[in-house]
Amino acid sequence: MANPIDVVNKLVQIGKTLRDVAELVKDAETKNLIADLNLALADLKMQLAEIQEEKLELNKRIKTLEAAHDIRAKLQVENDVYWFKETPPTGRAFGPYCPGCFDGSEKLVLLKEAQHHLEKVQGKYACPICKQHFGSLYKR
Ligand SMILES: [Zn+2]
Repeated sequence: MANPIDVVNKLVQIGKTLRDVAELVKDAETKNLIADLNLALADLKMQLAEIQEEKLELNKRIKTLEAAHDIRAKLQVENDVYWFKETPPTGRAFGPYCPGCFDGSEKLVLLKEAQHHLEKVQGKYACPICKQHFGSLYKR
């Protein structure tokens, strides 16, 4: 299937040829109609470019969600935070990872251990990105 913008460009070329023909036969009404046609085609071309850009964005989003889906299947929740069940991907720690960041924006953010004196008040782990605290000292 041809690229839609190439099709519009071909239609613009045909419009120019028709305009030349109308010029030769001195047909003003046809010339005006062809000018309207060219304006509509230019508008269509801009809309197609926007649709193609949107399509690229959506494909990017699908890839991100697919990758998150693959990672989610490898994670488990323990003490309110995510950990890899088995060997983590290269360069990744087993955990703990922030559930807020992963569930909200598909980002694996390694949590930091809370300072000892805050642990009992706020939870065992702190997220450096969303600043949330997770994990109780006592297993439920
Ligand atoms: Zn977070």
